[in-house]
Amino acid sequence: MLNWLTQLTSEHVRDLTPYESARRLFAASQGQQRVWLNANESPEAPQFEISSELLNRYPDCQPDRVLQAYATYSGLGKQNVVITRGADEGIELLIRAFCTPGTDKVLICPPTYGMYAISANTFNVGCIKAPLNEDFSVDVASVNAAAGKVKLVFLCSPNNPTGTLADANDIISILEAHKDQAIVVLDEAYIEFSAANTQTSLLEQYPNLVILRTLSKGFALAGIRCGFVLASPEIKEILLKVIAPYPVPDPVAQIAAQALTHAGVTAMKQRVDELSSSLASLSKRLLELDGLELVGAQCGNFVLFRHAKNIELMQYLVDNNMLIRNQSKQLMLDNCLRISIGTPAQNAQLFELIEAFFAQENAPLTSTNEAV
Ligand SMILES: *Cc1c(COP(=O)(O)O)cnc(C)c1O
Repeated sequence: MLNWLTQLTSEHVRDLTPYESARRLFAASQGQQRVWLNANESPEAPQFEISSELLNRYPDCQPDRVLQAYATYSGLGKQNVVITRGADEGIELLIRAFCTPGTDKVLICPPTYGMYAISANTFNVGCIKAPLNEDFSVDVASVNAAAGKVKLVFLCSPNNPTGTLADANDIISILEAHKDQAIVVLDEAYIEFSAANTQTSLLEQYPNLVILRTLSKGFALAGIRCGFVLASPEIKEILLKVIAPYPVPDPVAQIAAQALTHAGVTAMKQRVDELSSSLASLSKRLLELDGLELVGAQCGNFVLFRHAKNIELMQYLVDNNMLIRNQSKQLMLDNCLRISIGTPAQNAQLFELIEAFFAQENAPLTSTNEAV
């Protein structure tokens, strides 16, 4: 018999398990001297000035100076920008605005970011899968075969955790196949690391395109929870019907506005350049290790690789206070681990540990064994 609280819980919520965020997985170890290379965060925090002058007031729902700053940064108009509590809230708003619980479905292309399916599940919205091709390109035929059966199509470019880009012609073909029937949501959370590949220029021509952005990755501000939905003014109007009345706390708006000034964007670009070159050199060194295969591409701030001893390597790194992320439960990613790029010192420390692990694994039998 179910106890009263289980009975009381909405049926589709009973079966849910909380998202295993990188933070939750190692929550108990926060106090220790650990190196966090498991959540694609920036290794260093930029500095900001915050004023308490307006903290007695409710903030604007969509603070104008942040809207203006992000519109300028993304080359769009304010009427195309919605500010959200991280890109994660953008995902949730789209599902709440466009999907009827118990009836509608979304489409995802695994292996990909976990929150699309999790958000859909929390609203009792179904999730159809069109797995990526073997080279992690989008299986356009499968995605387009779902036209008319789904309300939202989630694409991610650069994709987490494969680091691969979606092809522009594939995106266009998907936009056309789902025209008038579904919104195509292109998640560009890592676009700062691959800036030339943004698809914002398609927004004007394709009214069913929505782009997700965030300050969490390239802008190094995961802690303030600030993201953006880029879309037509008509879609913006719909999303503003379901958003909370005060989604952007005043300190968040102050920090976001500073991060998006000319100086802030210049600093971001410099940080991104440094991380990208660290990523290239770490990837090159990893490739030289025995039996290690890089998986996907390196268009974000992370590298994905496969090795038969991934479980042992992961444990060895955790035992040495170096946290990376296991991705081997994902479709097509058996034996895969993901490393977020850290500071040069952290990357060097990580590589030394990996080398030490390999040296230990490849060591010949000890002399005592041989002597017996
Ligand atoms: C990190 C990440 C997000 C979430 O970004 P927030 O703005 O921190 O909520 C969204 N999509 C992808 C692909 C991500 O990796």
